[in-house]
Amino acid sequence: MMTEQEKQVLADRIQSVQERIARAAERAGRSPDDIILVAASKMNDAERVRAAIAAGIRVCGENRVQELLEKYEQNAYEGADLQFIGTLQTNKVKYLIGKVSLIQSVGSLHLGEAIAKEAAKHGVRQDILLEVNIGREAAKSGLPLEELDETIARLSEKESLRIRGLMAIPPIADETSKNLSYFNEMHQVFVDILTKKYDNVNMDYLSMGMTNDFETAIACGANMVRIGTAIFGARPYQIVSP
Ligand SMILES: *Cc1c(COP(=O)(O)O)cnc(C)c1O
Repeated sequence: MMTEQEKQVLADRIQSVQERIARAAERAGRSPDDIILVAASKMNDAERVRAAIAAGIRVCGENRVQELLEKYEQNAYEGADLQFIGTLQTNKVKYLIGKVSLIQSVGSLHLGEAIAKEAAKHGVRQDILLEVNIGREAAKSGLPLEELDETIARLSEKESLRIRGLMAIPPIADETSKNLSYFNEMHQVFVDILTKKYDNVNMDYLSMGMTNDFETAIACGANMVRIGTAIFGARPYQIVSP
């Protein structure tokens, strides 16, 4: 059970993140209301997720299917929008359809097609973001930039899908300036696709920025940020013992 004090700490952190988002938006000449805060709630149990929603969180993002299903069964997300932000295997897509409003992490044509097939089976239209491997990292998921146009063309033909934008996780850069150039490049790619006006593609969301760099991401044009640590505190595996 969370104590009242723990709930207060969580509420204060959420308020502080919301204020930082608002200031970053204003500095960029945009409205704070245009930025969507996705609370990355991995490793936080149903009670903590519910407390976050009570304190003003409107969107939750999970990155493991099993964990999402367990918390979903416990009504953790009531009152909030639920999205999927993690690595997704095609054989697990079926568990998400009907539960999540947006799958942010579609990093291959193959995965997009699997989602389209499953959504069609359920008679729904699934919103997705395409994940771009902007750091060109061999070990990272996401579409290589060179494959983006072709993937959009192919997936935009699927009636059971709707592409709503792009997502990226740049390399963990210690220097802010490094991620800044990735964020700028992502924004350029986003605008290019917007300009091409594909049928059945709505470039509504550019999802980038986490605890360490969300203000930079907003400065570069992000309108969706995914934040875990700054809201929930360090996850157990992040706490390094001396
Ligand atoms: C955990 C996670 C985040 C949030 O990371 P923090 O650094 O804790 O803010 C964002 N995006 C994805 C895909 C994640 O898995």
